[in-house]
Amino acid sequence: MTAHHSGSVTGLLVSDVDSTFLTQEVIELVAEHAGVRDQVEEITTAAMRGELDFAQSLRARVALLEGLDESVLAEVRAVLVPTPGALELVRRAKAAGWMTALVSGGFHEVIDELAARSGIDHVRANRFEIIEGRFTGKVDGPIIDGAAKRRTLEELARRYDVPAAKTLAIGDGANDREMLAAAGIGIAFRAKPALREVADVVIDGPSLLEAWPHLEAVTQH
Ligand SMILES: [Mg+2]
Repeated sequence: MTAHHSGSVTGLLVSDVDSTFLTQEVIELVAEHAGVRDQVEEITTAAMRGELDFAQSLRARVALLEGLDESVLAEVRAVLVPTPGALELVRRAKAAGWMTALVSGGFHEVIDELAARSGIDHVRANRFEIIEGRFTGKVDGPIIDGAAKRRTLEELARRYDVPAAKTLAIGDGANDREMLAAAGIGIAFRAKPALREVADVVIDGPSLLEAWPHLEAVTQH
């Protein structure tokens, strides 16, 4: 997804998706619809114990989806639940002239439609490899991990000529550490301890709209 750029941009808002912009974890929703939720959760738990890095755990989880019919994607798109305040935060940010992006270890096929409806300008996420209507069990293209999230924030800031101080990143997981550290304002939302450490602001929720005063402060600066 790309957006036209005209005039100056107030700031750059970059948000994680799983358990940040959405209440759910996209890969777990797909797994649930595929009937392999338990196996996927085992891998997630191993990753949290530090036995697998993000890319390894993502590949292992996607491998469990091999053979799945792509029609599951429409079912998953239909049950997505945005975090309270998420859509209003984007609406206000857009009205104030912000550029908005979602960066996700989840999947384009699931989140793009909601992002477009929400007025989000850019999405960077993973892609399932699907051939003849079936999941191959592989990820198509490079894995979006913590470093890729940070690079996306930096690339978009350069593209729209937004100074680092006017970049704001929101996330909840260890995978969001790098981009929160790189952003002018890093917001940990209902976050794991490892992320709180690097955050400028900690929000315990339930609403993402609690981030709005921090965008407003940048807007008025
Ligand atoms: Mg997350």
